[in-house]
Amino acid sequence: MATRAPAVRIRSIPSHCGLWFYALRRIRPGEELTYNYSHELEGYQGRPCHCGAPDCVGYMVAEEFFETVRRRQGQRSGKLRR
Ligand SMILES: [Zn+2]
Repeated sequence: MATRAPAVRIRSIPSHCGLWFYALRRIRPGEELTYNYSHELEGYQGRPCHCGAPDCVGYMVAEEFFETVRRRQGQRSGKLRR
């Protein structure tokens, strides 16, 4: 089985002519790029993500809410019961 490289995350910064996108590491030819739209937590169940990145939480939500979503999804599936 081939090992999948970590996703290439990109971020954006506003500029006078729109948005600038930049990668958080060097990009090799043919690599897929992932971009977090930084949605709010509310209603995240309605925004499933199919990017396939190994560390994806499965929903389009800002990175600051990843742990909250993982906890909630774990409780629903019965994986995390403490
Ligand atoms: Zn994803």
